[in-house]
Amino acid sequence: MLRGAPRHTRVVYDVVNTSCSIAFQRFFMVYTVPSCGFARCYVIAGSRGLMVVDPGSRGAARAAARLIRQELGMPLTAVRYVAATHFHIDHIGGMGPLLAACGPETRLLFPPPVHDYLTGRRRLNRMAGWLSALPPVTLAAARGLRRLEDALPATLAGIPLPLLHRRTELSFPVERCDFPRTGAGPPGFADWEILATPGHTEDSTSFYSRETAALICGDLILHMKQDGRGVLNAFCWNRDVILDTLVRLRHTIAPRTVYPGHGEPWEGGERMLDNIVKQW
Ligand SMILES: [Zn+2]
Repeated sequence: MLRGAPRHTRVVYDVVNTSCSIAFQRFFMVYTVPSCGFARCYVIAGSRGLMVVDPGSRGAARAAARLIRQELGMPLTAVRYVAATHFHIDHIGGMGPLLAACGPETRLLFPPPVHDYLTGRRRLNRMAGWLSALPPVTLAAARGLRRLEDALPATLAGIPLPLLHRRTELSFPVERCDFPRTGAGPPGFADWEILATPGHTEDSTSFYSRETAALICGDLILHMKQDGRGVLNAFCWNRDVILDTLVRLRHTIAPRTVYPGHGEPWEGGERMLDNIVKQW
């Protein structure tokens, strides 16, 4: 059973100077932020600090900060990056509050198409599956809400509805944002490959560590039933593209733990992507 702090993860503290010289026995580890919104939020421990992925609400920002301070015993200045797997409100809604609590050096990471969203050159993708695919996921995810702030985003950007999909204003300066291309992750997280995994949206991105065979997949794959069988997300921009993405991943990576955008992380064998279910 995966928990917020997996048992094989051990943070080693430098008792001489705990403020900045915290060393990790093992890098690349992923911590699951306890239920704090509609989407899952994760904290990655890297060689030079932390990366928070998909803080989607004010509650997620608060819960991630609590995990970092209390479970990891680290200051929020250790957060080097706050990243989004894609530009949907339930994955970006807590980035602003979290950034405000971190240090001035903390950077925001977005997939490259988001630069075009922010500059008005491209609109958010229209989505299919509003009635058939989204309600069951939303209802199941809502069980993880503990407080009102868990459901409250700090921005109305990232809503893929006709009247709202032009809204891309952020609650933080765009100068704090980077738009890394696929390939090695940012400094301190080079072993986390950034993979373009379009289909749910055009900008959808995943993070993959070959070292630990861990895949943080955003809304590409869901795992709501906790039955060890992930589901390819039917609420998506393009079902052909999302299926192509899954087929490509089956041939290029071999995760043994998948951290989904909604639902619980789960472990499997080297061929666990072969067991992903398509429900259309
Ligand atoms: Zn999404």
